[in-house]
Amino acid sequence: MNCEGQRFGHNFPYAGAQCIQCGISQDELSAVPPARPQIQPRPKRVQETFLKETAEKMFEYYGGKESFGLFSGMIKRKGIEWGRTQLMLMMEYPRKNNGKKRPIQFFMLDAKKS
Ligand SMILES: [Zn+2]
Repeated sequence: MNCEGQRFGHNFPYAGAQCIQCGISQDELSAVPPARPQIQPRPKRVQETFLKETAEKMFEYYGGKESFGLFSGMIKRKGIEWGRTQLMLMMEYPRKNNGKKRPIQFFMLDAKKS
């Protein structure tokens, strides 16, 4: 078994000794930083995509009259759940209000609420 360059699997005859197989000293080995845990960027990226999609739908809803940054910034601050709720309210609004779109002021007011 080749233990050279490995973190485990060395053969130290006594504490502080050198590995009889590859020659690394135990002190040297313990100085090696432990392997970094694998970073998993996936969930964050999925969230970002979701956020962008939601903001885009809002942007389109208002026909580009409001800035995309307003929606994406607000959703980022208030959370994706909040954003989804807002989008749902926007989509439902016309059905109950003779096809009128939900005024942007409502969005702004909700954004101010904690
Ligand atoms: Zn070794």
